[in-house]
Amino acid sequence: MLRLVRHGLRWRRPYSSIAASDIDHFRTILPPHAILSTLSPSTLNPSELDPYNNDWMGKYRGRATTVLKPKTTQQVSDIVRWCASRDIPIVPQGGNTGLVGGSVPLRDELVISLANMNSVRSFDPVSGILVADAGCILQSLTDYVAPHNHIMPIDLGAKGSCHIGGNVATNAGGLRLLRYGSLHGSVLGLEVVLPDGTILDQLTTLRKDNTGYDLKQLFIGAEGTLGIITAVSILTPPSPQASNNVILALPHFDNVQPLYRAVKRQLSEILSAFEYIDRTAYDLAVKHGQGRALSDEEVDGAACFVLVETSGGRREHDEEKLTDLLSTLRSSPSLWALREGVTEAVSKEGKAYKYDISIPLASFKTVVDTTREHLRSKGLLGEHAVKHVMGYGHVGDGNLHLNIVAAAYTQEIQDALEPFVYELVGKSLVQTWHQKLNTYVRCAASYRGSVSAEHGIGAMKTHALHYSKDDVSIEWMKKIKALFDPKGIMNPGKVLE
Ligand SMILES: Cc1cc2nc3c(=O)[nH]c(=O)nc-3n(C[C@H](O)[C@H](O)[C@H](O)COP(=O)(O)OP(=O)(O)OC[C@H]3O[C@@H](n4cnc5c(N)ncnc54)[C@H](O)[C@@H]3O)c2cc1C
Repeated sequence: MLRLVRHGLRWRRPYSSIAASDIDHFRTILPPHAILSTLSPSTLNPSELDPYNNDWMGKYRGRATTVLKPKTTQQVSDIVRWCASRDIPIVPQGGNTGLVGGSVPLRDELVISLANMNSVRSFDPVSGILVADAGCILQSLTDYVAPHNHIMPIDLGAKGSCHIGGNVATNAGGLRLLRYGSLHGSVLGLEVVLPDGTILDQLTTLRKDNTGYDLKQLFIGAEGTLGIITAVSILTPPSPQASNNVILALPHFDNVQPLYRAVKRQLSEILSAFEYIDRTAYDLAVKHGQGRALSDEEVDGAACFVLVETSGGRREHDEEKLTDLLSTLRSSPSLWALREGVTEAVSKEGKAYKYDISIPLASFKTVVDTTREHLRSKGLLGEHAVKHVMGYGHVGDGNLHLNIVAAAYTQEIQDALEPFVYELVGKSLVQTWHQKLNTYVRCAASYRGSVSAEHGIGAMKTHALHYSKDDVSIEWMKKIKALFDPKGIMNPGKVLE
């Protein structure tokens, strides 16, 4: 909500609002049930658009009057072409599980929901290459490839709602990145409708194709600002024959790093995840019924937890490796439910200020503690202000989710957190003249990390992009945006200011 005001002030392009005549045109492209609009003669209750106007965190609220739900790429293209001719801004929307306000309108943009584009186009069980419409839900694709003994290379807590197109648009990381790498590697091809309506067909199923620029990479992580992804070709790995997980309660954060080194050394090729949960995050997940709680005895004295998963080809071999490493081994799917459920638990507890950062593993706890102390020094800790400051995340990827759970979103908390957190994580704003090189450089007074490891920039962090990217990089991003989308109609106010 706070950011909305901010963006409203910055957004100066002369966009058109959707008119009744536009709805008439959309009726020539789509069947009536694929048009949700409060305009024109309509019986639609405006509250039916709430799920499209509100983001998952309940932080951003748009005022879209119209949501279109095309079924085919050609329909997407026809809609976008019309919008380009009328300067109507568009928000592409997948499962609307994004955590940075990228998937909802900031004003009255047209929402194009990909939810009806939900068919698998092909699957080759020999190569494991899957081609699917962008609106396929991640869990449904996981279920689709499972009987063929394959898994999706990506897994995350929102898998029951998020779309594969949304995953690609955000370059989502999730729980398998340690093992299978990022989507920049596993996505082989894309079909994209560009901001002028042109269909870019790069839906290749080739694993190797070094013929010119790899354009698809630009759309992976572009958060819908360069075009609408309508289909994805992705490499799915073979299912591991054996999977084990174990949760370890650790007395000190200082135990995490040596443990990670030992785990990597001893488990090597079978290690598939190494996730961190601090005690506050664990207690919250348990309080809100996410997964099976450990016994009082098991958690007694624990400062934090790590969840280790192995995925390999032979159960006995993997178990032997694990048992060698650990004296006690408990295997249970509910352990993952606990880790996956932390995000959900946080949202049940209150309003979350979410920072998704890449920093050195050794500094995970310092960043959480420093933020908590900073809020305390401002008098903002307490039941009616900030209730919890916690950290959890993907240790194996150097990615910490720093969550501050408050009773409500307030300007005071927001101002206390920003730019404080960004300066702690990214580059300091202090700029100095570097005498020797005679160049203008930013002082690194912090960890030189990333202010967004996997959730993206969306509407939430446009003003913070420069903490992780230098001026030259941002200038070239803007040039690329202007080249693809000269009218700026594709997801305005997101990623770039
Ligand atoms: C409980 C929970 C757990 C999560 N865990 C993780 C995690 O571990 N790792 C992680 O990276 N993220 C995580 N997320 C964030 C989120 O789920 C991911 O960012 C996900 O990839 C978003 O997919 P979506 O379909 O919901 O996209 P949306 O939220 O609908 O959209 C996200 C962005 O992508 C754009 N977009 C969506 N579809 C398209 C398309 N077809 N073409 C072009 N642009 C498009 C939107 O405009 C928006 O900018 C989590 C979220 C929740 C709620």
